[in-house]
Amino acid sequence: MRITNIHSHVFTGACAPDHFFRMVLPTWADRWADEIKYFLEKPWMRGLIKRLAGRRGDGLLLRYLQFLEAGTQNTQEQVFGAMRQAYSLLGPDTRFVALTLNMDHMDVLPSRHARIEDQLREVERVRAHYPDSFLPFVGVDPRHLQGEALVRWVREKVERRAFFGIKLYPSLGFFPFDPALDALYAWAQEEQVPIMTHCTRYGTHFTGGIQHVLPHADPPTLNPSSPVMPAIRDRVARYLAHPKARADAKYWGNALLHPQNYEPVLEKYPHLKLCLAHFGGDDQILGEAHKVQQWGIDPDNWHQEVVGLMQVWPNVWTDISYTLYKAEALRRILPLLAGPLGDRVLFGTDYYMTLREAPEADLVSRCRGILGPDLFARMASEHTDHYLRSRHFDPAVRFITARTVTPPTPAST
Ligand SMILES: [Zn+2]
Repeated sequence: MRITNIHSHVFTGACAPDHFFRMVLPTWADRWADEIKYFLEKPWMRGLIKRLAGRRGDGLLLRYLQFLEAGTQNTQEQVFGAMRQAYSLLGPDTRFVALTLNMDHMDVLPSRHARIEDQLREVERVRAHYPDSFLPFVGVDPRHLQGEALVRWVREKVERRAFFGIKLYPSLGFFPFDPALDALYAWAQEEQVPIMTHCTRYGTHFTGGIQHVLPHADPPTLNPSSPVMPAIRDRVARYLAHPKARADAKYWGNALLHPQNYEPVLEKYPHLKLCLAHFGGDDQILGEAHKVQQWGIDPDNWHQEVVGLMQVWPNVWTDISYTLYKAEALRRILPLLAGPLGDRVLFGTDYYMTLREAPEADLVSRCRGILGPDLFARMASEHTDHYLRSRHFDPAVRFITARTVTPPTPAST
């Protein structure tokens, strides 16, 4: 039995726009951002954080430092190495799906970060060193490439087994039903290539103004006759009309992320293998009302929305990544995990985003404790294998690892 963490990230600060880490930290850390960055450039500081974390990983400041320490490594291979180490107790065999992210269209302002092609090139180098345990997904954005050009760009990567699935992150500034994604969905369904998409009311988002992404309430769609398009348009209109919601993408980004946005896609591609990550979010599982729910412009409970989609569409999946840090939320969904929909729930953690909550090894062992060893094993191996299986990848067959390749003969003396 091989365990797979279906949801992790290894991109470094160099791949993300400058404001990225400020966005994912609480506001109290904001004023310290420059000092923290300065100290993290010192190797002794990194060493100190690691040693402190080993002894007492629970302090709030220390957790944020650990998160920043992970995200500001020099290379993606170093981030991966740190994650891998946290799994040493589970044996050497764990596999990781690393979700790349196209952050090139997060704003309309210029940014100096490394572009998606550089991020992917570096990821391929990590894969060359860990071909049997490092399984990246390719980050896709309809503003980068469209239609057949997008399919060609992704297909080439999946066919030579450099990448194993597709990652979407709509709150970066697009709708999942964007017509530019139509051909990609058709191909992904045909080849059963898995798609992973972010689906919580929180997370990262577009940082420009609403006018750049939602100029009006009638976004182009790959399925104009879909019966849910009117409800989607109404919701977008409510966001546009609400002064507080339209002022900040942490609110209006919800219009892009709403689970209902996948229905026009699924009506057209009913066997698309689609994972709506995080099971709607721990907040929605626990019934906490987000600001946009309190305002009444977007009242739906996303956990229930995801459950509803899974009941209708046979190839809609979810994962417990990030959500698993909240023990109470995990306990709340236990009956669902044991029921018929449980077969389409995947184990993942969302490393290193979760370092803000707890060290990785603690998260995994706590999760295993709550689920019990049998359910954990099914979610982390059977289910993840099932989800990953495509026309191009059989998770049961091992890749030849770098170590078994004959090393070059040393020069004779
Ligand atoms: Zn994630």
